Amino acid sequence: MGLILSSLVDLQAIENQVRRTEKELRKGQRQVKQQQYRIEQLQATIRANQEEIKLARMQYDKLELDLKVREERIAHMRVALNSAKTNKEYSTVLTGINTDKADNAKLEDQILALITHIDSDQAACKEIEENISQENEKLKIVCEDVEKRQKVTNVELEKQLEHRCEVYQKVPAKFGVMFDRLAERYDGEVLAAISQLNGGRGDYSCGGCYMKVPLEVANSLMTHDNVIICPTCGRILVLDKNPSQTSSA
Ligand SMILES: [Zn+2]
Repeated sequence: MGLILSSLVDLQAIENQVRRTEKELRKGQRQVKQQQYRIEQLQATIRANQEEIKLARMQYDKLELDLKVREERIAHMRVALNSAKTNKEYSTVLTGINTDKADNAKLEDQILALITHIDSDQAACKEIEENISQENEKLKIVCEDVEKRQKVTNVELEKQLEHRCEVYQKVPAKFGVMFDRLAERYDGEVLAAISQLNGGRGDYSCGGCYMKVPLEVANSLMTHDNVIICPTCGRILVLDKNPSQTSSA
């Protein structure tokens, strides 16, 4: 392999390292974000529960007021019952008392159901709050752990980036620019090794897109230090260093 192609192979190697390290950094950030998201979800659940409790309490106050109004009315009607002058008047008042009593019994059931509802929502809130404090503890540990790891990884990345610069200097400028452009397009996988199918007797194919590569390209790569791009995917083609591992039998 000539100087140009081998400089590109070196650049690809360091590019891979840099990308792996950057991925590692992102993984740490993702871990922290996931834990934060878990806590936010729990907080949202608590807020929804608190809203429910608030509405239930308003409903409770309203029902209590209704109950009180009816109880007062019943008390008045009891006085009226004692001073009823006719049977008809007596029976009308009595019916009124019984109706209000029946309504109040229903209200009391509703009030009881609301209290149960509020109690269970409050219990749920308490449980979630405990959960949140546990998850906050976990977040602290995750953050510390990630921070510690990232410190090391950042130092590593810095060294790799320095090394990439050195390697990049050795690549002819126009191919360096080409490499960067392709790296962006193919998520860092710029070079594609060509391999010969059928145990070294068949066509050559591109290791990036798996499409056929003309025989002249393979011959040119074997004899010249030419930068040739795959006619199908546009990656820079190189010879396979370990043909036995990649060619299919
Ligand atoms: Zn290709």
